[in-house]
Amino acid sequence: MASAATQSSSHRRSGNGGDLIVLGIESTAHTFGVGIVSSKEPYILADARRQYKPKSGGILPREVAAFFSSVAGEVLAEALAQAGLTVRDVDGIAVALGPGMGPALRVGATVARALASRYRKPLVPVNHAVAHIEVARFVTGLRDPVAVYVAGGNTSILSYSEGRYRVFGETLDIALGNLLDTFAREVGIAPPYVSGGKHAVDKCAEGGDYIDGLPYVVKGQDVSYSGLLTAALRMARSGARLSDVCYTLREIAFSSIVEVGERCMAHTGRDSVVLTGGVAANKVLASKVALMAESRGARHGTVPPRLAGDNGVMIALTGALALAHGVTIGVEEAVIRQRWRVDRVDVPWYPATLKDLSSG
Ligand code: AMP
Ligand code: MG
Repeated sequence: MASAATQSSSHRRSGNGGDLIVLGIESTAHTFGVGIVSSKEPYILADARRQYKPKSGGILPREVAAFFSSVAGEVLAEALAQAGLTVRDVDGIAVALGPGMGPALRVGATVARALASRYRKPLVPVNHAVAHIEVARFVTGLRDPVAVYVAGGNTSILSYSEGRYRVFGETLDIALGNLLDTFAREVGIAPPYVSGGKHAVDKCAEGGDYIDGLPYVVKGQDVSYSGLLTAALRMARSGARLSDVCYTLREIAFSSIVEVGERCMAHTGRDSVVLTGGVAANKVLASKVALMAESRGARHGTVPPRLAGDNGVMIALTGALALAHGVTIGVEEAVIRQRWRVDRVDVPWYPATLKDLSSG
């Protein structure tokens, strides 16, 4: 992402005695997060966030934006207090400019622009999907993996090639998290209560058996979940045992994305796979990915639940990599990109992770 404001030096050094400190802001969907990272241990200096929870139904972008505006100041203050730093101490301000919901993105972008201009700090644009992959590479230590990225609004299989992350396969319609959340809500096991690695659908699936009649759809490299959702809802409403429907829905949804992930590994010759995004918190899915990898003699890793869902840390750590490679933009260029595709973003730092920055 070269730009007029891209720094001339390709490797930026910090003013913090060699370690690079970056503050990152996340506001693409339901979470307003501020993270602060350093290129030296302990790496993660702060992780503050607030999540918008709708009273009922789905999330309304304008309500999210109002919520974000009301908590932005306190989340920022909390992150700085955790790190024991002021904004003056950081080397750059990173912000997730997309993809995501416009009104929500605008809050993060506004805060980032204000901080960058008030404190004269470089502003670093971060793609949210790239950040989910970078946090996975950072925490698992798997430097060149296939990434299974599954979240509330995204489901894709990615791997690096020629300067960018490429989408090997993705959902043709709704995302995996959305499938689980919508089903749970519609059959009344909502709010899609998740805890201890379990979704409401997992709780409901306990004691369930596999039943016939739900569609398993993989088209080429892609999965499709909307037919599965419709069929599962119809089955649940026509008197089938709910535990069986939940069990089968989960089995089909998880197996199909793991199938595409495996095909990507075979096709690209990669010998490792990482699971990332909010649904990576799911223990059943993580074990399916692990089984697939082990059957191929490949390594695998999963982002821990705390960093699996949206957070500011992943934006900060991706921002640190980008800043170290001179990727910055002027305040006037920092506009939101609601449909910013991951394969449009150069990742010149690859395969470095945050842990490599201070040794350079
Ligand atoms: P994200 O969009 O990355 O913040 O992730 C949010 C999504 O992750 C929502 O759809 C949640 O239902 C989903 N999620 C969170 N924890 C779990 C879990 N343990 N199992 C399945 N899905 C989960
Ligand atoms: Mg996300």
